[in-house]
Amino acid sequence: MSKDDHKPATRLVEAGRRKEWTTAPGKPGGVVNPPVWRSSTHLYEDVADLAKGRPNADGHFYYGRRGGPTQWALADALTGLEPGADGTELFPSGVAAIACTLLALLEPGDELLFTDNAYEPTRMIALGMLKRMGISARSFDPLDPKGFADAIGEKTKVVMLESPGSLTMEVCDIPILTAIAREHGVLSMVDNTWASPLGFASLQHGCDVSVMSLTKHVGGHSDLMMGSASAAKPVIERIRLQSQYMGQVVSPDDAALALRGLRTMGLRLEKTTSSALEISKWLEWRDEVSAVLCPMLPGAPGHDLWKRDFTGGCGLFSFVFRNADKKARERFIDALDLFGIGFSWGGYESLAIPVDPDRIRDHQAWPAGVDHGSGLGVRLAIGLEDPSDLIRDLECGFAAMENA
Ligand SMILES: *Cc1c(COP(=O)(O)O)cnc(C)c1O
Repeated sequence: MSKDDHKPATRLVEAGRRKEWTTAPGKPGGVVNPPVWRSSTHLYEDVADLAKGRPNADGHFYYGRRGGPTQWALADALTGLEPGADGTELFPSGVAAIACTLLALLEPGDELLFTDNAYEPTRMIALGMLKRMGISARSFDPLDPKGFADAIGEKTKVVMLESPGSLTMEVCDIPILTAIAREHGVLSMVDNTWASPLGFASLQHGCDVSVMSLTKHVGGHSDLMMGSASAAKPVIERIRLQSQYMGQVVSPDDAALALRGLRTMGLRLEKTTSSALEISKWLEWRDEVSAVLCPMLPGAPGHDLWKRDFTGGCGLFSFVFRNADKKARERFIDALDLFGIGFSWGGYESLAIPVDPDRIRDHQAWPAGVDHGSGLGVRLAIGLEDPSDLIRDLECGFAAMENA
């Protein structure tokens, strides 16, 4: 049985634990986890060895900026979890992974198309940094493949996808969009943070690059920032070179934390997915709520595509108030006790933030056909608490809305 035949749960346990990283040469036995190798200088055998240089890829001693065994173990683990990938580059944040990958794949004069529901900093990179470098960028409606096909021009080189999209959770038809892109010689990049490779095998659905914020599910404990980009050759080589030009490196301590998080990621995702489903089913019946935007919820927008293409979900979803004003929404969120107020998600603890997509959308603010009621939403990140406690907490929130 080859490693590639193992199911994801088994891969999460085995991933990145190569003998060469967990044993000492010539000594029997070994340790379970790749140790933390703190290092800047790597040593060469002799001058001839130094002169020979080392291959420009993970897994070779060279210099600390190209990582050491702890970072290689994490990169190797992530590559193993992403079917179709030949390598993974690590970055100090998810945003760094997105920015650096875009820089690797685009040149002045090129154009980027990005999904209108992209993570807000992705939009800022596209319309700010890239524009300044002579790379144009335009958004497209993720739910309109024909509009996407029409938007592709001579200069279009890369499309940036994200599914479900940030805040409003639209699930787009990635196989169709990536097929259209490929037909036009356009590379498809996906922000796969929400599903992770456990929930969505992005390269097998036509994407050329999968970027992730490891800060979320992989870290899993709100104590770590990191990002990754995984791809097949030759794309991963371009990303690796760009990353090296820009001196992107993550610390071995953080890499060890991320590896620790990875071991329980499957269990955490299963739990937060089932809790999110339970809570969204409860929210669906609340009079105060006009729509629940949770892809795992039968009947919710995007559920059919999610069911077709995804093998898992997570605890992150949004809902919209039927007729609240901003003050009432504020009272709702402030009244929550178990839900913290803050950015990020994917930790063990639940979070809530207000959602106002209109200010960062060029096309639809909310998914078409959704009763977006007041136009005021809340995004919930469901953690590992008991869902019945979270539901009671949300009940307090709804009660506080009435008490102006
Ligand atoms: C948080 C997030 C990022 C950015 O990751 P950081 O590690 O915070 O830089 C990128 N994409 C999505 C969808 C995110 O939610």
